[in-house]
Amino acid sequence: MSDPQYKLRVAIVGCGIGGLALAASLSTFLKQNPDAPRIAVDMYEAKPEVSTIGAGVAIWKRSWQVLQDLGFEEDIVKKGFKVPKDGESRGPIFRKSDQPSEGFDFHDHMMPYGPLGLHRPTLLEILQSKISDDCKIHTSKRLEGYDTLENGVVNLIFSDGSTATADILVAADGVHSSTRASLFKTLGEEQYIQPVFSGTIAYRGGFPKSKLAEAFPDHWAMNHPKVWCGKNMHVVSHPLGPSIGMICYVSIPEAEGAIYDGPLVREVPNEEVVRLFENWEPDLHPLIKSVESYSAWAIHVVKPLPTYVSGPVVLLGDAAHAMTPHQGVGGGQAIVDAHILGRLLAHPLTSKSNVSAVLDLYDSLRRPPTEEVTEKSRINGLMYEFNHPDFLFNDLATHPDGPTRAELEALGKAVGKSFEWLAEGDVQADWVAAEAKLMLIAQAEDQ
Ligand SMILES: Cc1cc2nc3c(=O)[nH]c(=O)nc-3n(C[C@H](O)[C@H](O)[C@H](O)COP(=O)(O)OP(=O)(O)OC[C@H]3O[C@@H](n4cnc5c(N)ncnc54)[C@H](O)[C@@H]3O)c2cc1C
Repeated sequence: MSDPQYKLRVAIVGCGIGGLALAASLSTFLKQNPDAPRIAVDMYEAKPEVSTIGAGVAIWKRSWQVLQDLGFEEDIVKKGFKVPKDGESRGPIFRKSDQPSEGFDFHDHMMPYGPLGLHRPTLLEILQSKISDDCKIHTSKRLEGYDTLENGVVNLIFSDGSTATADILVAADGVHSSTRASLFKTLGEEQYIQPVFSGTIAYRGGFPKSKLAEAFPDHWAMNHPKVWCGKNMHVVSHPLGPSIGMICYVSIPEAEGAIYDGPLVREVPNEEVVRLFENWEPDLHPLIKSVESYSAWAIHVVKPLPTYVSGPVVLLGDAAHAMTPHQGVGGGQAIVDAHILGRLLAHPLTSKSNVSAVLDLYDSLRRPPTEEVTEKSRINGLMYEFNHPDFLFNDLATHPDGPTRAELEALGKAVGKSFEWLAEGDVQADWVAAEAKLMLIAQAEDQ
């Protein structure tokens, strides 16, 4: 039964970065127009509580502007995080490491902007803090699928046998989205149901700095991020408060795009990772050995989709465009999606009668840039692991001793360039353009 005080009832599936950012965006922009019709929001999260995996998330210019626009800057500063600034800042050193002898640095990476390194649980906590009373969170609710009723209302079906209805269903349920599966099953486009294997396993872990300090007090990794590069493998080590975070990537390029039949995440003892990197340079070994155990993630991506919208159902964040983590932007893209979608839905010009055109507008605004970012991130992975077609170093006939320093410096320049776009753009200008299009939708409806 629809409640007349609400212009729309929105169901958000998934309380990760994207889902919570959307709830925060809807709450913020509806509050700015207290006389405008309200939106009832129900959020459904499969887990028993709102939580996240992983330590840090990099926030670049656009996602930072969104967090500012949603009024989070003060909270973030209060929690002791340094806000990002325009202009270059020191990033990781890139180093050739895939040989038993000492490696060498080939690229001193300057970040074009920030980024802000946010603690993931803190980000979720901050996003949740701005959610209005019109938004209810229901935990232990795993969406299994949905159908659209004759009156256009979406019927959500949960794994516990319960159901719920909404005017709009937003899928923020991550890379293995069951909403995306239902959507493309209904459209008869089964090739978009499953995410595909990126070809890369990420071994994630961390350890307290004190562990390294005992034997290697002057180790570079204590205070500086580093990308340790080699053929088909690379390692990112980064200081995070009193700890050092480690992600060891191992790729099988031929497996890219395949359906992966192993476990998506598994715990592995450190010996497995130590063995994988045993022929790499000595400086890396104490770092890899210091992690007690790793969780191994089979990184999956979503193939470019023909649409993010079908009828009253809309995809957001990883459900729409899960990408490899090699630019550190997947979460940021989910935040930008959430900002624009929340602002469009909350706008007084958006109503039940034109919401379908408004969702199509979201699709046209977000699908092209997120597809582009997904490809940029993939290309970075190829560069870090010496597999980019412009920088192939694996031909033993021409490179019996591996890549030269000059060749790697050229690669480093390309890596530097690949990050430049992260300092570009302006969320407010994007919104002005989006609002102009929304006005055209409303005008067309009036005629
Ligand atoms: C190793 C690694 C490093 C990364 N580093 C960065 C970085 O530095 N910066 C960055 O911006 N991004 C980074 N990312 C990407 C980032 O983590 C994701 O893009 C981001 O978490 C996507 O947010 P989301 O809300 O779309 O999905 P998720 O965070 O996956 O959230 C989905 C939510 O939906 C819930 N859910 C799932 N299925 C259902 C269901 N059927 N019913 C109900 N609820 C459901 C889940 O429990 C979860 O809470 C990294 C990713 C990896 C793997």
